[in-house]
Amino acid sequence: MSNDYDLIVIGAGPGGYVAAIRAAQHGLKVACIEKRDSLGGTCLNVGCIPSKALLHGSEYYEEAAKGHLAKFGLKIAGVELDLPALLAEKDKTVKELTDGIAFLFKKNKVEWIKGEARFKDAKSVEVDGQTYSAKNIIIATGSEPTSLPGVTPDGEVIVTSTEALSLPEVPGHLVVIGGGYIGLEMGSVWRRLGAKVTVVEYAPRIVPAMDVEVATTFARTLKKQGMVLKTDTKVTGVQRKGKGAVVTIEPVVGGASSDIEADIVLVSTGRRPNTDGLNIEATGLTLDKGRIPINHDFSTAVPGLWAIGDVVEGPMLAHKAEDEGVAAADNIAGLNGHVNRDVIPAVVYTEPEVATVGRTEEELKAAGIKYNVGKFPFAANSRAKANRNTEGFVKVLADASTDRILGVHIIGPMAGTMIAEAALAMEFGASSEDLALTCHAHPTHPEALKEAAMAAHGKPIHI
Ligand code: FAD
Repeated sequence: MSNDYDLIVIGAGPGGYVAAIRAAQHGLKVACIEKRDSLGGTCLNVGCIPSKALLHGSEYYEEAAKGHLAKFGLKIAGVELDLPALLAEKDKTVKELTDGIAFLFKKNKVEWIKGEARFKDAKSVEVDGQTYSAKNIIIATGSEPTSLPGVTPDGEVIVTSTEALSLPEVPGHLVVIGGGYIGLEMGSVWRRLGAKVTVVEYAPRIVPAMDVEVATTFARTLKKQGMVLKTDTKVTGVQRKGKGAVVTIEPVVGGASSDIEADIVLVSTGRRPNTDGLNIEATGLTLDKGRIPINHDFSTAVPGLWAIGDVVEGPMLAHKAEDEGVAAADNIAGLNGHVNRDVIPAVVYTEPEVATVGRTEEELKAAGIKYNVGKFPFAANSRAKANRNTEGFVKVLADASTDRILGVHIIGPMAGTMIAEAALAMEFGASSEDLALTCHAHPTHPEALKEAAMAAHGKPIHI
């Protein structure tokens, strides 16, 4: 088979594999180079999917173990955790989904070249001594976990999210460095399974970029669940001690330092774009703070070179990478691919879930935009009431003069599912009145979104 392609995609994460499939659907001859043993990238192998599998299983365990189901007439005695079974089920899910991508590659005639790609020039790469060339190359090499200066994960006691997905036993005390969504999700998993969990966050609050009212409610709920949150606190060192480690912290404003003893330390301080080993210099491209600079259409300064996903600007999220993959492949095929960066939802899959799309109140204030707020609590939503899970609220922010929806922020049951409707409304430029006038099935959680839209006009029915 010839080593010349219309398109080579480097990296088979949600950005790369989606781009490869889409380009093949357009009739291009496509190869995707992936160095992992399985397709799907961070998301399917060590990110979105395994973390959600563990969140799901651990939620069942907590519900059963803590007697939460008794009020529904289910008395369960002698609940035991079978951690190997939970981890095996998670691994099974990952395998089914990564195998699924291999099937989709075959179905769409995308060739998977196994190995690590290294640029020879802007039109060709080398993998295991073989050269492959293409008219177009998409860089979709994703991201890697970062750490703090002086803190080196060892994969056993001081771990990243990758190892935290497969701890062989429930730690007595898990210290999570970083109160972002990955740390809080993994912290929730291990807390539910029995660990004491302490989260250390440098910023004044967890999930610092989130709408402050939502983040404050979120922190209150996590604390009620037993998670210890130490905000405004910096980690100055982590040392191995015995079978565990000692985390040294001090207040950000200065003051006395103190030590926290941990069985496991999860370093969850963010991720960095990954261009390691690519020999990107050979293409003539220059990185901007580690990221690949792109144009609006995902092309780069070098003709025929494109980049998408975590390795470029924007939130490091799988669905953002996927949409960029579709858009880049469309543009390479001569179509008009586009991603609306103003409408990218983000979800934290804890209990309760937190989901946001568009701008926060703080961002609107800073931009001097006048807006109306409509809020509706799940305590007044009949389905949440029937399910006996009424924590949280929906908040709709709409432009004060045009009523166009500018942001939606939800904390509560089904938030991650409900945010899709808000994103769709925003994508179509809907007003809060449009949402309020849309008939919603009863009794459902999304009725809370409709009521919050009604509240933006001061006329909710159920509060
Ligand atoms: P990646 O998925 O990182 O894929 C890049 C691929 O490129 C990798 O497989 C890598 O092996 C390969 N590669 C790199 N260099 C080379 C090379 N030189 N040659 C060949 N192959 C190479 N996002 C969400 O939207 N929702 C979530 O719930 C969510 N949960 C997460 C939970 C965790 C624990 C983590 C770590 C991340 C989570 N994310 C989530 C983020 C999400 O995983 C990423 O945003 C997404 O995977 C980025 O996709 P990508 O295609 O840009 O890169």
